[in-house]
Amino acid sequence: MRMSKYLLNTLKEVPREAETLSHQLMLRSCMIKKVAAGIYTYMPMGYRVIRKIEAIIREELNREGCIELLMPAVQPAELWQESKRWDFYGKELLRFKDRKGADFCLGPTHEEVITDVVRRELKSYRQLPLNLYQIQTKFRDEIRPRYGLMRGREFIMKDAYSFDVDDQASEKSYWSMYHAYARIFHRCGLKFRAVEADSGAIGGSYTHEFHVLADTGEDTVLSCTHCEYTANIEKAECRKPESVEHGDFLETEKRETPGKKSVEEVAEFLGVQPENLIKTMIFVAEDGTPVAVLVRGDHEVNEVKVRNFLGLNALELADEETIRAATGGPSGFSGPVGLNIRILADYAVREMENAVTGANEKDMHWLNVNPERDFKVSEYGDFRLAEEGEQCPRCEEGRYEQFKGIEVGQVFRLGTKYSESMDCRFLDENGKEKPAVMGCYGIGVGRTAAAAIEQNNDENGIIWPVNIAPFDVMILNLDVRDEDVSIAARTIEEKLEEMSFEVLYDDRDVRAGFKFKDADLIGLPLQVIVGKRGLKEGVVEVKVRRTGDREKVAPAEVPRKVVELLNSLKEQEEQRR
Ligand code: ATP
Ligand code: MG
Repeated sequence: MRMSKYLLNTLKEVPREAETLSHQLMLRSCMIKKVAAGIYTYMPMGYRVIRKIEAIIREELNREGCIELLMPAVQPAELWQESKRWDFYGKELLRFKDRKGADFCLGPTHEEVITDVVRRELKSYRQLPLNLYQIQTKFRDEIRPRYGLMRGREFIMKDAYSFDVDDQASEKSYWSMYHAYARIFHRCGLKFRAVEADSGAIGGSYTHEFHVLADTGEDTVLSCTHCEYTANIEKAECRKPESVEHGDFLETEKRETPGKKSVEEVAEFLGVQPENLIKTMIFVAEDGTPVAVLVRGDHEVNEVKVRNFLGLNALELADEETIRAATGGPSGFSGPVGLNIRILADYAVREMENAVTGANEKDMHWLNVNPERDFKVSEYGDFRLAEEGEQCPRCEEGRYEQFKGIEVGQVFRLGTKYSESMDCRFLDENGKEKPAVMGCYGIGVGRTAAAAIEQNNDENGIIWPVNIAPFDVMILNLDVRDEDVSIAARTIEEKLEEMSFEVLYDDRDVRAGFKFKDADLIGLPLQVIVGKRGLKEGVVEVKVRRTGDREKVAPAEVPRKVVELLNSLKEQEEQRR
């Protein structure tokens, strides 16, 4: 491809609207153009990367026996009403009416449509297992679209759906997708972790997210230094503390703590450690019922754990009015003593002695409060956020290490949620009707491209992993007006293309310095630099973008060198786990 004829205008300046590096670099290297908030055009350069990632996905899924189809972006409300998600899904679902007034939405995901497709075709257990996938445009009206393709409103997703005869078969499908995902992200040259994640309030199902490790990730991942256990912080379990002998219970005592609300303020004022405080948080369930959650002062409540324990879809921190109604006091001074609502307490609270709590009265705290003696706990459980450095609850040998991650994919066991509500059944070998057991599996294609940039860059620009680079090699012609140089460059281009390499040939009549900058910004794995000075000595230079290493070789040697360097780069990338 001749760069002079390609649609590729690079930007020198860092665009103001872009906060993350990948977004900046995608805009600067002309991969994407914004059309509206969270809505982008994939420019030719960007689209090549998308297509590369898609090709890897297709290969690995086809290898697992998955079958590709393509469903519509526009979906009728009826299907969503059947699954009961039409009202439940919230504002991310973009709804609209057609000219006849019928309700439709733009698909944010395709469980409803695929279940409808399969229920019409599925008759017998002999047709199962079935795993259908598509690579298609989704729309989610995200509150805060940002970071370019990372969190768009319109984005390309690979979504797959498995249908099986029973739980055991469904689990097999799940793990086959899990392994396919690991191969996909591996081939994309990414450092990633498969992470146990929250699957919501529906019991029994489980899920893994695939996270690309990057400081700009929105998710926090905890991983054991010793065993395999890796989990999203939303889900990461805490080790149950050893029970301690309780002995010296002191008399409770009320103390004035004027204006001291936060754990730190109260602890400092009373001259105690934060871990001597019991933090009382008041939440409200969907139906308005308040619930108190107690954690040790130096711990944080994990709302997801609480929500799942209560079997709720939503849980919110109570507002001032609700807190007053539930506790009789203002926010900042809540405590369990005399509190008449359901009280959940973290396991660590059970081991506390002579603790400090709020007194449900302005500017007042209780001293020497003891669980069970001074207040009743409805249920103890694991209700806190796990922290970096604490002991792993699974192996008890390692400790938690903390990473930031970008969720690029997720595998999920759905069970019979959709097949029951939408009547997707088959006859088993005894002629009995059964609902299909389902799984769903997503990969954000654009987000994967963005995550790859977050992980592979330097101060000069992008450093594409070989397998997803938009082209393999860039040829830089430093003297386009010189006939010999141009012939040499074109010959190399032809030779490489004959060998099926993808080549971007910078034949623009611009300064050499400009070409070097653009080549580094665009970040193709290899650069072949052809100039008058070198050719006089009978050589061109081959530069490896990742290392900056340059080697002089004869023009005829370039193809061999390109093969050798690309192979060794691929090998290195394979080893970067
Ligand atoms: P998130 O928690 O980041 O909002 P999600 O868990 O809602 O994502 P899924 O429903 O699991 O997303 O979708 C599957 C994949 O689609 C995600 O793993 C992610 O890679 C991608 N994805 C989801 N939302 C977006 C978005 N707004 N922009 C780009 N990619 C997205
Ligand atoms: Mg997800």
